Amino acid sequence: MMKNFQEEIGKFNLERGWNKDSRFIKDFLLNLCEEATEAWTVIKWIDEEKQKEVIKEHVDKFEDFVGDSLYLIFKIAWLLDIDSEQALKNTLEEYEKRFPADKMKEVKHGNPLAGGIDNK
Ligand SMILES: [Mg+2]
Repeated sequence: MMKNFQEEIGKFNLERGWNKDSRFIKDFLLNLCEEATEAWTVIKWIDEEKQKEVIKEHVDKFEDFVGDSLYLIFKIAWLLDIDSEQALKNTLEEYEKRFPADKMKEVKHGNPLAGGIDNK
C-alpha cells in the first residue's frame, strides 16, 4: 500500500516535469521541518491542558501536517529509490528491540528508558 502512494507521488511529479532529481533533497528536508513548524506554531507556548482544546479547534491544521509530511516523505523515498514500506518495517523492528513492551509497561512517567533500553 505504501509503495502505491510512493509510485503515485512519483507519477504526479513526472507528469509535472519534476524529474527524478535528488539535488533538491535538502530543500524537501527543510520543507518537512517547515510542516512540523506549522503544526508546532498552533500549540507553541500553550500549557498541556489547553493544548488538547487548541488541537481540537485546529485539527484541520494537524491533518494538513500529516498529509503534507507524508507527501514529502514519499517524495523523498521516490527520489532516493528507497522502499518506504521496507524502511518502516526496519524502524518497527528496531523499536521492538529498543522499546520492549514488557519493560516499557513497568516504567511510569519520568521514564528512564525513554531513549530505549540501549539509551540511544
Ligand atoms: Mg502544510
